[in-house]
Amino acid sequence: MIDARRRPALPADDGSAIATRLVHAGRQPGYADGIVNPPVWRASTILFASLAELDAAIKAPDKGLYYGRRGTPTQWALEDALTGLEPGAAGTKLFPSGVAAIATSLLAVVRQGDDVLITDSAYEPTRLFADRMLRDFGVTARYFDPRIGGDIAALITPATRAILLESPGSLSFEVQDIPAITSVARAAGVVTMIDNTWATALRLQPLALGCDISIQAITKYVGGHSDLMMGAATANAALWPRLRDATYRLGHHVSADDASLALRGLRTLALRLDRAEATALTVAKWLEQQPAVARVLHPALPSHPDHGLWKRDFSGATGLFSMVLKRGERRHTAALIDDLAHFGIGFSWGGYESLVLPVELDRIRTATPIPASGPIIRLSIGLEDAGDLIADLAAGLTRYEAQFRGE
Ligand SMILES: *Cc1c(COP(=O)(O)O)cnc(C)c1O
Repeated sequence: MIDARRRPALPADDGSAIATRLVHAGRQPGYADGIVNPPVWRASTILFASLAELDAAIKAPDKGLYYGRRGTPTQWALEDALTGLEPGAAGTKLFPSGVAAIATSLLAVVRQGDDVLITDSAYEPTRLFADRMLRDFGVTARYFDPRIGGDIAALITPATRAILLESPGSLSFEVQDIPAITSVARAAGVVTMIDNTWATALRLQPLALGCDISIQAITKYVGGHSDLMMGAATANAALWPRLRDATYRLGHHVSADDASLALRGLRTLALRLDRAEATALTVAKWLEQQPAVARVLHPALPSHPDHGLWKRDFSGATGLFSMVLKRGERRHTAALIDDLAHFGIGFSWGGYESLVLPVELDRIRTATPIPASGPIIRLSIGLEDAGDLIADLAAGLTRYEAQFRGE
């Protein structure tokens, strides 16, 4: 019988491979009574049978069904699944977007007068939250070279409360020395958090490398089908109570319908990442050989300056990378991208369809030089055939170069 009034304990790690664990992650007899996928439990009010039952629930609101904002077995199954994928995790909270997960993780830790250090390669809305909102609350954000490593020690002051990493940076793809940064932070009593959207827990396990909070835009690879907005933050035991409380205080909630979609995405994540990784690497290696292309920014390429670091810490790659064109300006990239047959032009990434996006680092960066002189084009490789994608890009690069003929 379903006993969702009491939330079952997390199942122990059974030592199986991550692809195996993904298949049953988050499944609990108490959540679904034998139904393979947890049903979509929509709820605001939960009815209690008596005053005694109500009072028991008030004493332990996280132990079971309480009020819709604290979730139902549908959201709990997703939280448990994500927690179970990260060694060292004590719990996961869900958010209406990846940006909300990042903002809440920061708000859980910083107070007025504090200082946060953020990688210069961070996702732009992360910077905007820090620069426009945290600043108004009296919190200073400073940006550092993503390749700083252990030298971050020199930037830490008594006011420094948190360091936010993103590795690889999702436009420029620098890989960060996570263990070097987290060991300095630990010694100084500074919290570390990382935007792990590129890698997911299948390719990088940040808590095991010393981070306190691992954040993902579920919108990207876990959702995987371009029809879902969601974020997740997974914390170690030290940070979990603060993250959980900040999430409640700010009133974050995701619908059971969306949690169910995200769980469905999670079941095929290993398969989709393997395919995107392999196709992206094939396309990236081909692009590296093209005369119109100056550089390909993909950490799994031996030509990438951080390739060694990536190999040390990551168990694989995913399907997102950038290329730098040799000549031209942003306006010229229309010739390349407007008539691509298999790449959509749009934001987000990690879905089953390939996407292309010209990106402007010089508008975003403040601490480090831009790693390119020509236009930068970001590609999210989906599940299409590699040969078709290459043929499409070959035609696009021919159109691109044709603009400069005779110059
Ligand atoms: C998309 C993205 C986010 C934000 O996710 P949303 O769900 O769109 O708010 C955060 N970090 C990275 C690296 C992203 O690509």
